[in-house]
Amino acid sequence: MKNAVVLVSGGMDSAVVLALAREQGFAAHALSVAYGQRHPSELAAAARVAAALEAAAHKVVDVDLRSIGGSALTDDALTVPKGGDASASGDGRIPITYVPARNTIMLSVALGWAEVLGAADIFCGVNAVDYSGYPDCRPAFIEAFERLANVATKAGVEGAGIRIHAPLMRMGKDAIVLEGLRLGVDFAATVSCYLADAEGRACGQCDACRLRARGFADAGVTDPTRYV
Ligand code: ZN
Repeated sequence: MKNAVVLVSGGMDSAVVLALAREQGFAAHALSVAYGQRHPSELAAAARVAAALEAAAHKVVDVDLRSIGGSALTDDALTVPKGGDASASGDGRIPITYVPARNTIMLSVALGWAEVLGAADIFCGVNAVDYSGYPDCRPAFIEAFERLANVATKAGVEGAGIRIHAPLMRMGKDAIVLEGLRLGVDFAATVSCYLADAEGRACGQCDACRLRARGFADAGVTDPTRYV
């Protein structure tokens, strides 16, 4: 079995990606990053997802992005927008919930672990269809990071090379829901909400909640999300 590193946030998209990596025959090493997010219940969700989908390991790495702030998810002085007033609406602006350089940092940690494991494959759940417009969720970012990975590492220069898999990149949220059901993902284990409480209950109003709810509705599937 080949090793792979899979970034698992605790949300629905990365759960589907973990299931896809397992289906492709990888020994999936789940990686979560405790970056100081204001919704730490997603880390508990990540542990549930990793266990349920039989990840070979689950590691939580601390990277304190709260110390630099700059996002409504990492700075208590900033407010997470509710009701769709700022984002996910196609107006082209990058919303305040964007976390500066988050995916670059998380993929870099994944790259380091992949090198240690001898893994040539890294999976992440970024999506550029039903998303909030974050620049580090777009195809150009993934392609650029893959090039970086192959010039930055011993594994890239001397080994078999590194591949960054973003299998959900061009899928709508409804298609992601259906793919998850096909793969047996228990969406009740996942937490998407930016403002989820300590028990993982969702607010129902933030962009993450609204994107998720619309995906399930479009798929004609009941969302097991628990709301406050
Ligand atoms: Zn929410």
